Amino acid sequence: MKITFAGAAETVTGSCHHIEVDGIRLVMDCGFFQGGKERRDMNRDPFPFDPKALDFVLLSHAHLDHCGRLPLLIQQGFKGKILCTPPTADIAKLILADSASLQMKQAEYEARKAKRRGETAEPPLYDMDDVMRTVDRFRPVAGYNVPVDLGGGPKAIFHDAGHILGSAAIELQTSNGTVLFSGDLGNRHQPIVKDPCVPPKTDILLIESTYGDRAHKSMSDTLDEFRTAIQSVIPNNGNLLIPSFALERTQEVLYEIFKLWDAKELPRCRIFLDSPLAISTTKVFARYREYYDQEGQVVFSGDPNPFKFTPLRFTQTTDESKEINRTSRGNIIIAGSGMCTGGRIIHHLRHNLWHKDSGILFVGYQAVGTRGRHIVDGAEKVRIWGEEIAVKAKIWTTNGFSSHADQPILLDWIRQADPEHLILVHGEDEVLDNFAAKIKTDVGKESTVAKLEKSVQF
Ligand SMILES: [Zn+2]
Repeated sequence: MKITFAGAAETVTGSCHHIEVDGIRLVMDCGFFQGGKERRDMNRDPFPFDPKALDFVLLSHAHLDHCGRLPLLIQQGFKGKILCTPPTADIAKLILADSASLQMKQAEYEARKAKRRGETAEPPLYDMDDVMRTVDRFRPVAGYNVPVDLGGGPKAIFHDAGHILGSAAIELQTSNGTVLFSGDLGNRHQPIVKDPCVPPKTDILLIESTYGDRAHKSMSDTLDEFRTAIQSVIPNNGNLLIPSFALERTQEVLYEIFKLWDAKELPRCRIFLDSPLAISTTKVFARYREYYDQEGQVVFSGDPNPFKFTPLRFTQTTDESKEINRTSRGNIIIAGSGMCTGGRIIHHLRHNLWHKDSGILFVGYQAVGTRGRHIVDGAEKVRIWGEEIAVKAKIWTTNGFSSHADQPILLDWIRQADPEHLILVHGEDEVLDNFAAKIKTDVGKESTVAKLEKSVQF
């Protein structure tokens, strides 16, 4: 068996691992490299394998950094099947279509600029046709824990990774032993999704290391902050903006707001979900209740429920979105993007940032250099569409929402899977060193850090 690391090696994006075993070739994930320009340009690099020779893609989950380069495989001649859970197939279609649309807009903008310089710009990486051809290759598996025959020997089994709806850790059983790829592992006690499964024992474990160096804060502090933000803003007729990622975080935020409303702790207000992508992903969530944890199944079994209760409005069109700031104040507005780098949150920031009665509640990580990070770091003014806007609104940041396992969960997983060979993927350099040292002292196992475009053989 030969494993070649084609992404998420000493970094957290571009997840892609190529495996040759028992006469077949497959990749686990085919994700987008995200971050600064240099990182994004890596998406244009050739794959360190021949897409035409691939038989399967085993897709762990629908986040862009795990599925975003799939249309490039198709462009480059991949004719095989893309196996994933049914929710992952449905959500990945939305994520890929959104990615194609953003790239096409960006390419159009770059082309206009280049034309004025008398130059030509690069075309988008892929367009909607590529996405449609990718979607045709999806073959959803029956569900978790059901072995799938990959033809002539190897079997794949998708286990619940508890990270986002439909997310999987993938077990590959071969004549050469078993490989388990964690995908992204979830946090414990996340709303809606189940906790990460107890892994099967394995010979080789590829484990994600995103938070391999830290333990998360408790959710109760986060919920207190959540309540404080709502109570400080809404009764004073301010708007509370929640910049949120469309997939999983938005649904978790709706879940927590619903619980407050249900307990009669939510002041009178309307809640706007103002993101077409978040609305579409929420609708997919609503179709897959059997994937929820026990508490989620109970909460969602009724009407009203977190996706359908009186004050909640889905604003699909741009006109409906603009109407929000015209009609009334004292509302909760959930919009993307999660780091305030684009999307409808921008025009809500423009309307509310300068307002001392309004508030911004950050529920996700804000990367260095983003507008969200500037606000969190206390900027007095931020630039929006060429205009300086004063930051007078109240700002809250919560740290408890996390859909990634922290160090204690990862260490437990390694103990339970008890691999002979342990390979660390999907982590930043400085985290990987600390994590490897901790694994050695606490679990007594040596580990290898995956290196980009390098192979290991067993
Ligand atoms: Zn993920």
